[in-house]
Amino acid sequence: MRLKIVHAGEPVLRETARLLTPQEVLGEEIQRLIRDMREAMRDAPGVGLAAPQIGQSLQLAVIEDREDLLKGYAAADLAERERRAVPFHVIINPVIAYASDEVKYFYEGCLSLPGFSAIVPRARTVRVEYLDERAQSQFVQASGWYARILQHEIDHLHGALYIDRMQSRTFTTLDNWTRLYKGKPIPQSQPTPDPPDPPDSATEA
Ligand code: ZN
Repeated sequence: MRLKIVHAGEPVLRETARLLTPQEVLGEEIQRLIRDMREAMRDAPGVGLAAPQIGQSLQLAVIEDREDLLKGYAAADLAERERRAVPFHVIINPVIAYASDEVKYFYEGCLSLPGFSAIVPRARTVRVEYLDERAQSQFVQASGWYARILQHEIDHLHGALYIDRMQSRTFTTLDNWTRLYKGKPIPQSQPTPDPPDPPDSATEA
């Protein structure tokens, strides 16, 4: 079945998704959902897809960073992002058990906010505990782009989008990103700017 990816504004993207029981994970319904989400992620194409993005408020996401997706990027960009191929896998009821203090700043996008991107700070390394598609406990220690994907997808399962974490003044259309920022270095120590002073209540802008 072809799944429709929902966009920002759909309430399901702002809900905390519910946990799945091992029995549910092994059931035909969730097994079919996993297959359909894998297809939808590959069609998009994307490197991750969380169940709320197809309208299902469940703690489940699929992840895959394929070799052929990496071919569109310069080797230096891939090295800077520590981006390597990640085989297809499923994370169910995931928990971030550890996140490094070291933070990386890179442009990030989302299939639920098509056509836009922004710089989002993310922990460089995370340890994530989860159930796989056979309802077996697993953990992964990830760094670089894979760690970013995990944090992005797990945010979806808690009703958060990258725009909640982005450096809002870097928000850009993808067209402008391609034209102006693609391939340019991104400073990796970015103090959060002070918010502008609130306008005088007597004036209107
Ligand atoms: Zn997303």
